[in-house]
Amino acid sequence: MRKKIVAGNWKMNKNLEQTLTLLAELSAKLPDTKAEVMVAPTSINLLSAVRNLENSTIEVIAQNMHFAESGAYTGEISADMLLSVGIQTAIIGHSERRAYFGESDEILAQKVKAALTNNIRVMFCFGEELEDRKAGNHFAIVESQLKNALFSLDASAWSNIVLAYEPVWAIGTGETASPDQAQEMHAFIRKTIAEAYDSAIADQVSILYGGSVKPANAEEIFSKPDVDGGLIGGASLKADDFVDIIKAI
Ligand code: PEP
Repeated sequence: MRKKIVAGNWKMNKNLEQTLTLLAELSAKLPDTKAEVMVAPTSINLLSAVRNLENSTIEVIAQNMHFAESGAYTGEISADMLLSVGIQTAIIGHSERRAYFGESDEILAQKVKAALTNNIRVMFCFGEELEDRKAGNHFAIVESQLKNALFSLDASAWSNIVLAYEPVWAIGTGETASPDQAQEMHAFIRKTIAEAYDSAIADQVSILYGGSVKPANAEEIFSKPDVDGGLIGGASLKADDFVDIIKAI
């Protein structure tokens, strides 16, 4: 059985006090669920969040990490630093990192490798831009993103990878891929992995959808057979909305 996951990416939102307030609200309202629930606060608040959630089933995850073990990379955070504050999962490849911080497939391949080598689970984000979809290139783009960053990994690495398909045109725009568009792409992703590896790996990897998921559309998107949950941006910043999305799974 594939894991169901609902993860909140808080991006560069919430200072320490606001982070602790939101965590307290979430903890108080968290529904009974078999899904894994994760939140990704900004890096400066990771340790406080981990301590705050010590007795909780909510996992705190990182929004990013660097590929180097240590060294002259001002402003960056290594795998070891994440592990040392209790983080076991990192988002890698978010479209905002690709667009604003120049993270290419090659850099992302190095980050994925560094995370897995250090036993950090990877939530790998990818997805096409609007022009790609309009031009009908969305399948080819997604395939190349997967191939360039992930397909040189050993088969055994895949038990520590979660995928998040996030069409860039749907992130923070209020525009969502339709449930059928999400299903179509998730099925394509699974087929592509089955061809590169095998169907056992393709069947076990959780593939989340991300892009303007909210309480009003979560249930329909999550009902699709190849959608195993969601990576939620804006709607994860309000406890009630995030809780309603968790309930939808
Ligand atoms: C995201 O940034 O990963 C995301 C899905 O954002 P939003 O839900 O706000 O579109």
